[in-house]
Amino acid sequence: MISSAMQDAINVQIRDELYSAYLYLSMAAYFESASLPGFASWMRIQSQEEVTHAMKLFDFVNERGGRVTLHAIEQPPLEFESPRAVFETTYEHEQKVTGLIHNLYEVALEEKDYAAQVMLHWFIDEQVEEEDGVSQILDVLERVGDNDQGLLMLDRELGRRQAH
Ligand code: MG
Repeated sequence: MISSAMQDAINVQIRDELYSAYLYLSMAAYFESASLPGFASWMRIQSQEEVTHAMKLFDFVNERGGRVTLHAIEQPPLEFESPRAVFETTYEHEQKVTGLIHNLYEVALEEKDYAAQVMLHWFIDEQVEEEDGVSQILDVLERVGDNDQGLLMLDRELGRRQAH
């Protein structure tokens, strides 16, 4: 049986993962409106991945005999200055999420919840990949600068991302 402290902390993380999904969906909408369909598609897949993160936590709480509580999700930003600004926000957001996962792991240590620790190893690895992937795109965007041709090439490249 899951402890109430662990359950409550995971329920907050479910909200935070769903907020991430909402944020990236808002970014997808921005890219759609900016006629960058590859960027939009990349963000849509990113958003779907965040839903799967939330559902992993949702399933874990239920498997451990806990009760999922869904908290309110904040409205994400609607407008962004540029594709680069979007990825700067994404990078900062993922770094914040990494911190949240680490805090959650601290709770699992305090609660001596070994099953939660093992489950959270997946999230710790996932955050390394998230930060790395986003920072690579940000590097390219910094090099592209105001070059429209470069931006369109990157749009084509990002449009190749497959959901998994
Ligand atoms: Mg996530």
